[in-house]
Amino acid sequence: NNSHIISMEQYNVEQKIQDFIAKVEAKNPNEPEFLQAVKEVAATVIPFIAAKEEYRGMKLLERMVEPERTIIFRVPWIDDKGEIQVNRGFRIQMNSAIGPYKGGIRFHPTVNLSVLKFLAFEQVFKNSLTTLPMGGGKGGSDFDPQGKSNNEIMRFCQAFMTELCKHIGPETDVPAGDIGVGAREIGYLFGQYKKIRNEFTGVLTGKGLAYGGSLIRPEATGYGVVYFCEQMLKTKGEDIKGKTVTVSGFGNVAWGVIKKIDELGGKCVTISGPDGYVYDKDGITGEKIDYLLELRASGNNRAEDYVKKYPAAEFYAGKRPWEIKCDVAVPSATQNELDLEDAKKLVANGCICVTEAANMPSTLEAINYFLDNKVLFSPGKASNAGGVATSGLEMTQNSIRLNWTSEEVDARLKDIMVGIHKACEEFGKEEDGYVNYVKGANIAGFVKVAEAMLAQGVV
Ligand code: GLU
Repeated sequence: NNSHIISMEQYNVEQKIQDFIAKVEAKNPNEPEFLQAVKEVAATVIPFIAAKEEYRGMKLLERMVEPERTIIFRVPWIDDKGEIQVNRGFRIQMNSAIGPYKGGIRFHPTVNLSVLKFLAFEQVFKNSLTTLPMGGGKGGSDFDPQGKSNNEIMRFCQAFMTELCKHIGPETDVPAGDIGVGAREIGYLFGQYKKIRNEFTGVLTGKGLAYGGSLIRPEATGYGVVYFCEQMLKTKGEDIKGKTVTVSGFGNVAWGVIKKIDELGGKCVTISGPDGYVYDKDGITGEKIDYLLELRASGNNRAEDYVKKYPAAEFYAGKRPWEIKCDVAVPSATQNELDLEDAKKLVANGCICVTEAANMPSTLEAINYFLDNKVLFSPGKASNAGGVATSGLEMTQNSIRLNWTSEEVDARLKDIMVGIHKACEEFGKEEDGYVNYVKGANIAGFVKVAEAMLAQGVV
């Protein structure tokens, strides 16, 4: 048995991965989140490239880690006290091989170049997985919406779009929401774009229904996650019914996840915020789900308020929900919110499935722990793609100048999620039948972009 001896070929691939990472690291210092996202992709995609004659030597991944364009701009605005405020705005136009740049805008104090580059890089693979013609991009600002008045939000959105409108368009780059950017912000951004450009076009998605939005778009990310989770469980002959589910966050994504899990007979028992997590052993059901919308709209960003409204629930300050026993975990808040220690707790407590709803919520160490323990684990770029997929459906409806019914959009969303699951199985199924969704999503997402880039030459 020679299995412990590393073959020369394998050694070379390992070396290639390390060399590649070292170069990306040297070229992008102080960008830990971006490097984390690149490392996860490189580990699975470089061996794939090495084994494929047509891809070798074409520098495909080298090109993909370099944004096609990075726009950084000043966003000056005046607050309610009449004081001048200055924020930084960004748009990363990562890859347009398969369609116009597409991806959300995040307003959060943690936003910086590294965070947006990781998000834009992930978006390229995610959008490819949807099978819709969308390239990858991401944008945002270090603006903190917390505690701002409605007028301040509007003025900031207008100031942000005054510069951004020079760089986007329905055939160029179509932004949407992300953390801190919901229907209200999209409305203000759209209004300013329309005023300056004098064009009524589908330049943004996540729009209100009155001006070109799509039914089901608000629910889409969360619903898509649950449709994907259903497929994952099915590989083990299981379903959502009767499962106890831990969820983090309480924003738009967590809301959609909880709503759909409840509908399918599962029980969500946690939400979380920057202040800690809430454990509701009776389950977050009925009017409590609607209350999540209120909680979010309050702008306080405090999960603890839930317990004031529903005193039977418990609040744990400064902690994460992953210590609660569950069958399924759905991290739905933000990047790196689930680390190795959390992963160990989940596995020890019998969790069989982790379906990521946020972007890169698990650290690399946590992911590897799940994979080593053969827990069903799906990366956000696969399982949360329903949001951007439905944005793609919104773009289609805008183009044909028609609106589809909820049933029609929902059916298409479901089809897309089932399709992504199939693609992950195709490239990620191991000999023992275990599906490595990280590998599957990375390779399946990569192939379409790679084919397009090869066809279009060195541009
Ligand atoms: N921000 C969402 C994501 O992470 C949605 C992007 C979009 O709809 O363009 O995929």
